[in-house]
Amino acid sequence: MYGLKEDWSLDDPAREFVLDDYEGGTARWCSGCGDHGVLTAVQRLCRDEQLPPEKTVTVSGIGCSSRFPHYMKTYGFHGLHGRALPVACGVRARRPDLHIFVATGDGDCCAIGTAHWIHAVRYNMKMVVMLLDNNIYGLTKMQTSPTTKRGATSNTHPDGSMLDALNPLTVTLGITNASFVAQTVDWNPAHVYATLRAAHRHPGLAFVRILQRCPHFVPKLWDELTNDPNKVLLLDHPDGIPVDPAVARAYKNHQRHDPHDLGAAFQVARREDVVPIGLLYHNPDAQRYDEFSAAGHALQPEARLKAIDAAIDRFLI
Ligand code: SF4
Repeated sequence: MYGLKEDWSLDDPAREFVLDDYEGGTARWCSGCGDHGVLTAVQRLCRDEQLPPEKTVTVSGIGCSSRFPHYMKTYGFHGLHGRALPVACGVRARRPDLHIFVATGDGDCCAIGTAHWIHAVRYNMKMVVMLLDNNIYGLTKMQTSPTTKRGATSNTHPDGSMLDALNPLTVTLGITNASFVAQTVDWNPAHVYATLRAAHRHPGLAFVRILQRCPHFVPKLWDELTNDPNKVLLLDHPDGIPVDPAVARAYKNHQRHDPHDLGAAFQVARREDVVPIGLLYHNPDAQRYDEFSAAGHALQPEARLKAIDAAIDRFLI
C-alpha cells in the first residue's frame, strides 16, 4: 500500500526502480543521432542511483537535444530558447530535494543563453548541465552556431564560417566559482555514463560538454576522432572520471591530469592537436547559492508567517 510522506515522496520501502520507470515516449531524434545514447546514459544513471522519478526533473531550452524532457518519465520543463538554466536554478532554489538534469545545445547555451550560462555556473547550484554540442543548429536546419569550426559550411555561411569557434570548456573554466568541468563523446557509452555519474555526485553545478553526432546535417563532423582514437586524449587521475578498462584500451593516448589544478585545466582545454575527455576541473568546496536560497525551507508554517511579517514590518513607515 502506497502512502505519501511529508516530503511528498511515496512511502514504500520496497520500491525498486527499473529502466522502464524512466523511459518516456519514443525519441524522435534522427537515427544515429548522438542524443539517443546520452538519453540512455541518463536513464541508466537514474536507475542505478535509484532516483525516485517524482524527485527527478529534466529541464531544457530549445533545440534538438532540448526534446530530452519528453523522453524521460520524470518531471520535466521544455522551456524557452536559451532559458533552461534560469528555470533549473529556480527549481533548485525552491526544491533542493530534487535531482536536476539540464539538456542544452550549443545554440541554446552558447548563443542566446550565454548570460544565463555565466551566472548559473557562478551560482553553482546543484544540477547536472549537459551541453550536447554538435557544432550546428539542427532543429532550425543547419545554421552556424558559436561552436561551428572556422571554414565549416552551413546554410548561413555557404562559403564557410569566418571566425574561430568558441571553446565552451575555456569559457566555463573562466567563470568565477566554476566547480566541475568535464568533457566526453557520445559514441563512447561507458565514458558518457561514468562522466554523468561523477557529475551527479558533485555537490554543485556540474558542466559536462558532450561532443554529439548529428548525422543529418554534419555527418563527417567527428570523423577524425572516430577514425583515429589517438586524436582523443584520455584524462586520467584518481580524483577524475573513473576509467573503464575498455575505455582505456580504446584510447591509448592518456595524460595524468590533476582536476584540482585550474591552470592545468586551461592548458588541457586549449589543446588543438587532440580532444581531451575526462574531468578537467573539480572544486567540490566552491560556494553554492542554493545553500543560501534554501534558508527557511525547514520552518513550520507559524514560524514562516512570523518571518514574513517581520520582513514586511521593515517597510512600515
Ligand atoms: Fe540529431 Fe541532427 Fe537529427 Fe537533430 S538534426 S535529431 S541533432 S541528427
